[in-house]
Amino acid sequence: MTSGAATIAERYAALVHEIDDELRACGRASGSVTLVGVAKRQPPAVVSEAIRAGLADVAENYVQEAKRKFSLLPPVRKHFIGHLQTNKAKAVAGLFDVVQSIDRPEAVEALARAVGTASGPMPVLVQVNVSPTERFGCVPAQAARLAELVRERPQLRLEGVMAMGPLDATPQETQRAFELAAKTFARIGGSTLSIGMSGDWRLAVRAGSTMVRIGSALFGARQT
Ligand SMILES: *Cc1c(COP(=O)(O)O)cnc(C)c1O
Repeated sequence: MTSGAATIAERYAALVHEIDDELRACGRASGSVTLVGVAKRQPPAVVSEAIRAGLADVAENYVQEAKRKFSLLPPVRKHFIGHLQTNKAKAVAGLFDVVQSIDRPEAVEALARAVGTASGPMPVLVQVNVSPTERFGCVPAQAARLAELVRERPQLRLEGVMAMGPLDATPQETQRAFELAAKTFARIGGSTLSIGMSGDWRLAVRAGSTMVRIGSALFGARQT
């Protein structure tokens, strides 16, 4: 396991290697999964070390925490993965490069308005709820409609689907959830299927993930 490695740089390299091994084991191309480091409740120094080791994508759940931390990090692509409150859309549009958590029409509306026309379109993912333990995300049956709403907005660019696997689940339950996410992704289209976290990324890669979001397995246990 990666968690035994001594430094963050070593852990990052080991994780990249393990992901490639898993891709090869299921007949997929090496490098076809993007590793996103989930930085919530991780110190900026630790996140910076991973970026210097090659990590190109970082995610945060909370606007205030992201605002504090991003100014201390080397250049990196920034993903918002928290619940998108409409009154935070402006701040999210200013801080982040990608929004993975579009889960309802009001979020589409607020983010499109916040992005405006000055910059290029904001890449977004539709968050789909495939797990009984997850509070957020649209139900799979609504994903296509939500995707259409995104596609109608020139300020946004639909890139695919994000989902969370179930917590405390059997591998079979997790696999079923990821397969539902993959089926939804196939239906709405795009290039990015963002599924897989520290505890379930291997199952996600086998289900077709193109983007894993890893926190504790890369940066260590989160601060409380
Ligand atoms: C916290 C979080 C992760 C990463 O969780 P780990 O188990 O630490 O890898 C991934 N995605 C989302 C949406 C999260 O909130």
